[in-house]
Amino acid sequence: MNKSKNSVAYFFVRWLLAMGVATAFAGSAQALATGDLQSVVDEAHAKYKGLKDGKNADYIPELAKVPSELFGIAIITVDGKVYTAGDVDYSFSIQSVAKPFTAALVMEEQGVEALRQKIGVEPTGMPFNSVIALQLNEQRSVNPLVNAGAIAAVSMLDAESPEQRWNKILNWYSELAGEKLSLIDDVYVSESETNYNNRAIANMLFNFGRLYSDPLEAVDVYTRECSVGVTAKQLAMMGATLANNGKNPKTGKQLINKDNIPELLAIMFMAGFYDEAGLWAYSAALPAKTGVGGGIVAVVPGKMSIVAFSPRLNQAGNSVRALKAIEHISRSRSLGLFGHNPE
Ligand code: GLU
Repeated sequence: MNKSKNSVAYFFVRWLLAMGVATAFAGSAQALATGDLQSVVDEAHAKYKGLKDGKNADYIPELAKVPSELFGIAIITVDGKVYTAGDVDYSFSIQSVAKPFTAALVMEEQGVEALRQKIGVEPTGMPFNSVIALQLNEQRSVNPLVNAGAIAAVSMLDAESPEQRWNKILNWYSELAGEKLSLIDDVYVSESETNYNNRAIANMLFNFGRLYSDPLEAVDVYTRECSVGVTAKQLAMMGATLANNGKNPKTGKQLINKDNIPELLAIMFMAGFYDEAGLWAYSAALPAKTGVGGGIVAVVPGKMSIVAFSPRLNQAGNSVRALKAIEHISRSRSLGLFGHNPE
């Protein structure tokens, strides 16, 4: 891929997001009415609960055991209002949806420039766990939302021991959720026993000088971060903190420097949806991150976070129902960044 063209695309998206945040605040008088948010959540749930396409991830054996029929949707607005439908209190493993939140912590500690230089911000156009992407891309770790970049992000955190690194991440996610989160042990053990590809990625990155702690230690902490349990409501509060320029709507704490939010959302927009980032931008037009646990968080800058969870995944690794539900909410209420007309 042409590097300079990609950088222009990145800065364009960053500018667009900054404009989106500004206009979202300016246009808050036109914010959706409360009743409408509850009705759109109910509507999306009813519309897609009969959809049976896809199947649970099973390359992490424990994920295959999660009941496939679970389906929950939660919206939390920047002023902390919560709208839900379905299974929003079931704790599922956050998986890759954790990645932007760790990237946010790296930005807090070291700034957006360090993240760009030491990891990168380009979409890969390849699967999230690709080894070839590291061979082909000069920046190697590529971006913090694929496995390589996410393991590198873990390794960049300032810590003196693996335990300290892990506690820092778990406390950070808990602050973002506004309540204490914990590890789902069975998922952690199951992934630890099978994560040879991630170990290969970490070793290769270390060899290239693009991993900044012991490789296997970084993979272990990364595996733990993916195994954190969240409910759709907790994840929606994490997303609402991004929508609210880094301030948690529940606790009122300014957790993320607001100047880092446009960069973070730009990465989510370009690389948050596995190999369907283009299609997602085309249809729902929101920064988002998906995970193989079946969760998706989407951010409407300055307004709200939309989360959906359902375990069955499509070929790209995105939850079929969650994708459809958020797409419906975005399109039917014109929430996307580019002003799609309502469906
Ligand atoms: N822990 C998973 C892995 O490393 C995360 C995958 C995902 O949700 O994209 O394979």
